[in-house]
Amino acid sequence: MSRSAHPAGPRHADVLTEGHYSAPAADLNVLDEKVWSRTVTRDADGALTVGGITVARLAEEFGTPAYFLDERDFRARCRAWADAFGPDADVFYAGKAFLSRAVVRWLKEEGLNLDVCSGGELTTALDAGMPAERIAFHGNNKTVAEIERAVEAGVGRIVLDSFQEIVRVAHVARRHGVRQRVQIRVTVGVEAHTHEFIATAHEDQKFGIALADGQAAEAVRRALALDGLELIGVHSHIGSQIFDMAGFEVSARRVVQLLAEIRDEHGVELPEIDLGGGLGIAYTSEDDPREPHEIAKALSDIVTRECEAAKLRTPRISVEPGRAIVGPTAFTLYEVGTIKPLEGLRTYVSVDGGMSDNIRTALYDAEYSVALVSRTSDAEPMLVRVVGKHCESGDIVVKDAFLPADLAPGDLIAVPATGAYCRSMASNYNHALRPPVVAVRDGEARVIVRRETEEDLLRLDVG
Ligand SMILES: *Cc1c(COP(=O)(O)O)cnc(C)c1O
Repeated sequence: MSRSAHPAGPRHADVLTEGHYSAPAADLNVLDEKVWSRTVTRDADGALTVGGITVARLAEEFGTPAYFLDERDFRARCRAWADAFGPDADVFYAGKAFLSRAVVRWLKEEGLNLDVCSGGELTTALDAGMPAERIAFHGNNKTVAEIERAVEAGVGRIVLDSFQEIVRVAHVARRHGVRQRVQIRVTVGVEAHTHEFIATAHEDQKFGIALADGQAAEAVRRALALDGLELIGVHSHIGSQIFDMAGFEVSARRVVQLLAEIRDEHGVELPEIDLGGGLGIAYTSEDDPREPHEIAKALSDIVTRECEAAKLRTPRISVEPGRAIVGPTAFTLYEVGTIKPLEGLRTYVSVDGGMSDNIRTALYDAEYSVALVSRTSDAEPMLVRVVGKHCESGDIVVKDAFLPADLAPGDLIAVPATGAYCRSMASNYNHALRPPVVAVRDGEARVIVRRETEEDLLRLDVG
């Protein structure tokens, strides 16, 4: 993954008009369905409900902060991706976005495959019953022990990320008397950010093997020469939170070009290409993500066209959405603790979590939205910054947003679109207890990852 912070475009709250921030365009009580999961709505009393359960009940039963994951929405998104790509393509869910045994079972039931990038993710996937042949193993520095486990388990593919790894995987496979199916991850010289992409000659990053100066072609030569490896294709992943398909277009074109070069040099047509993940979701109302069927059509049109031009058989395509599946399906529920109005600036609203449950704002300048969810309010909008309880001034959850001016300690607020890279990147900073993930469906809520306890913290502390 490539995750440099993208230059933020102008956001509604950044617009200064004569010393005042412009008011929000929309009624704060209205939940924008783009950023909330499918079954979220407000009940007659104005409280947010998900899967038919109000946040008041959820907070009482599970506490705050907590992530609530809309299982129907998750499954529907899996199906939408699988249906959009059809039987001639493969959808791999990127497990690093959020992985748990329940999620693995849902993926398996909905017909998706799974990307893992560590021994821990592999263990979780196998333990929850994902067939090994539906697992792809990624990473720029897999240990030999991890490679051993992946080969022993019989994973469907290992994505080779370096020259050393070509040899390591071949060696392990030979020792196990198998031919391991592999792809080679290439860096195509495209860096995609939210609304733009940059095509460069060289990629200054740790992932993959550069197409430029023939490195990728050399990797292919070496992989084809080793009998422990069955080279099935080429892999490219160009970034994250991408809306603009032009980056994928350049990437697909360059990957197909490589396939044509491989055919010309070796007389083999590799049967697969993987175009990676990184497809954007709506974190705020200003984001306009594409539907899976539009993405599938755009990608398959590009690949078909490029292959026709190069006189290649169209390879089987795979994609690896992580956030586009799980991101929109969950929100984080917080209780408001303290409120500090700073005259002429903004109001700081402190919640009972923070950078330990959502590091993305601090790490990537990520944009989020927020809503008062325990009730509605007719009060004027006030400009807020939602911050956590950690010992860092950069401990910001939502940088600029509007909440009603009558917001009070004890109110519940929720940050939508926190299904991806929030629990999976959560930390114990300040010995915070990582929040639970609660799956909600049809009036029932069940913990799928429990809240950490202080005993959990002390159990690791063996001094
Ligand atoms: C991170 C990653 C993904 C998923 O990215 P999303 O932005 O969650 O879709 C897919 N493939 C690879 C190789 C990745 O590193």
